[in-house]
Amino acid sequence: MTAAPDAAARSTDDTRVWEELRSAARSAMAHAYAPYSNYPVGAAARTDRGHIVTGCNVENASYGLGLCAECGLVSSLRLVGGVLTHFTCVDGDGNVLVPCGRCRQLLYEFGGPELLVHTPEGIRAMSQLLPEAFGPAHLQADN
Ligand SMILES: [Zn+2]
Repeated sequence: MTAAPDAAARSTDDTRVWEELRSAARSAMAHAYAPYSNYPVGAAARTDRGHIVTGCNVENASYGLGLCAECGLVSSLRLVGGVLTHFTCVDGDGNVLVPCGRCRQLLYEFGGPELLVHTPEGIRAMSQLLPEAFGPAHLQADN
């Protein structure tokens, strides 16, 4: 008996997926625009349809307008469709980072509580990184 594709996509020990994502995140990081912080970040995620989407941070002379790598990633997700299943982001040395608070909310919108996130401490579900999250279900008319 074979596992359902969704179960396989969400496996926490899928080494190949995580290696592919770290590589994609490092490639994305090389395109970051971070002349002010000198802190380039790359992000990569896999979707339930098997797509890999990426993003890099983009700063601005008006500092508050800077965009985290996750912003570009979710925009890319919208272009190919699907739901995020695995996510990772790296710094300029390729070290794994945790997404900032705002980006946890961004990722929750498109991956939900089951999204797997590679952190420096290991693989975590988004429900662990953003407990009791506010999400799309809170805005449904029948609530
Ligand atoms: Zn962020």
